Order: sequence, then C-alpha cells, then structure tokens
Amino acid sequence: MKLVHLKREVEGIVKHIRDQGKTIGFVPTMGALHEGHLSLVKKANATCDYVVVSIYVNPTQFNVQADLDKYPRTIERDCELLNGFCDLVFNPIQNCEVYGEKIILKDYNFEGLDTQLEGEFRPGHFKGMANVVCKLFEIVQPHIAFFGLKDYQQYLLVKKMVEVEGFNLEVKGIETIREASGLAMSSRNERLSLKGKEVASVIHYTLQFCEKYASFLTVDSLKSKAMAILEGLIEVEYLEFRDAETLVKIEEFKENQLIFLSFAGYLEEVRLIDNIRFTLTSV
Ligand code: AMP
Repeated sequence: MKLVHLKREVEGIVKHIRDQGKTIGFVPTMGALHEGHLSLVKKANATCDYVVVSIYVNPTQFNVQADLDKYPRTIERDCELLNGFCDLVFNPIQNCEVYGEKIILKDYNFEGLDTQLEGEFRPGHFKGMANVVCKLFEIVQPHIAFFGLKDYQQYLLVKKMVEVEGFNLEVKGIETIREASGLAMSSRNERLSLKGKEVASVIHYTLQFCEKYASFLTVDSLKSKAMAILEGLIEVEYLEFRDAETLVKIEEFKENQLIFLSFAGYLEEVRLIDNIRFTLTSV
C-alpha cells in the first residue's frame, strides 16, 4: 500500500492503472477510520482491481469552525487499518492539492434534495461535500465509488452530482455497519461516554420500532410513539419519514413505497445521525 500527499502522484498512478485496463474502486473518507469505513474498502477490494482511499478533512463541508478544528486526525492508525485492503491512500496535506490555488465552489442544482434534513440543519454542508467529491473524482478517475448508506442523503446527492457532471462511474451504496448494540458506527461515537454509547442504542431501536409498526399506525401516531421512546434520552433534531427517492414527506404510508426514515439528534453534545430504509409489505 502506498501513501501519497500530492495530486500529481495520484494522477500518475491511476493513469498507469487505467492504461493496464484495470478497474479502480474509490472510497473517499475524512479519516478516523472504523469498521464502517473498512466495510466500504473491503467491498471495493472485492469488486475492483485497484483500491484508492482518500483521507482528507474537507474544510468546505463544515459549517461550524470548531467541528473542523476538533475533527480527529489519526493518519498512522488509519493506514494500519487499511493495509491489506487498499492499494493507494491519498492524504492531501494542503487544500490546493484538491481545490487548486483558490477554493472556488460550484453551485449545484439539486432540486431541493440538498436543502432539507441534513441540508436544513447544516447549511452549506452538501455544497462543500459535492464539490470535494467532484474534485476527488477528477483526480482519482474511479470506475466505482463506494459510499455509506448511513449518510443516505449524501449518497443521493453524490449520484445526482455524478449525473450533472457526466462522470462515467458507478456510485455504490453500502449498508450501515453497527455496534452489537445497534448504534451506527461513527467517528463521533468516540466522544460519547460508555453510558452515552449505551443510551445511543435507543436510536436504532426506535428506527426498527417504526419499521415494525408502520403497517399498523398512521404516520403521526407512529412519530409520536417514536418521540416518546426517545424523550429524556436524546435531544431530537428531526425524525422524518420521507420517500427514499424524492425525499418528499410521507403523509400516509402506502404499500410498496420505499420509505427513508431519517434521524438526527444530540447526546452528550455529540450530533448523531442514523436512518433506515424499508418497504411496507402489507398495510
Ligand atoms: P466520513 O469519513 O465520515 O466522511 O465517511 C466516509 C464514508 O464512510 C462515507 O461514505 C460514510 O457514509 C461511510 N460510513 C461512515 N460510517 C459508516 C458506517 N457505520 N457504516 C457504513 N459506512 C459508513
């Protein structure tokens, strides 16, 4: 496995790999890797000839400077974890290696998919995310890019950006990896106390509860029951039933509709997100 910091090094290597007719799998990350990230990398390794992982804490997707400052940076440990599953790690030290001399962000028209849920509570986040992913795709030139469904809205927007930009690549979504308790793995979990981690498992419990009872209850009454489970444990920012393709609010459950149940909330001042997607088989 090779670790490089410069854009031109990556460009040289991936050109050589492509010239050999090999397929390139790409996993963009911000580091502080855990089993969730590794599941993407392992999938890339199983699917593609050559695997590139980027580790870059992208400044343009943080709407709060303190979050950017305290984002964990653990490159040595990350490389140890990646060894054996990945061929090339791109770890730009300077922003110009990704953005060029000046950071200029494009405005994408995501037709409202970017201004709700995460987009509403983290203004500018998706603009920064889409721009950095676009820049990284230009550098890495992957055949397949792997994204976690834990960030389902991000996955939808990356697919849209790929369409808009006309990239010739496939975006694959990989299911969320969880702790035994059900808590979705996240770099942010490290900031929770042991007790906090236990309490946080109520998030997945609640999402599963909703899936189980969605066939029997109205959206409003299911939502009130879910909020009652979370009350006193987690400060809920949103808990929303949305159409999984359009993100349109679901007013009434319908058979065969793919539902995206999305959650964000705070515990011990740590912002946690999670979601599940499910279809009602019988109403
Ligand atoms: P991040 O470093 O947080 O930007 O995440 C990099 C990639 O890993 C994104 O595509 C995330 O959706 C994905 N990811 C993060 N946590 C998990 C998880 N628990 N399971 C699966 N994928 C994840």
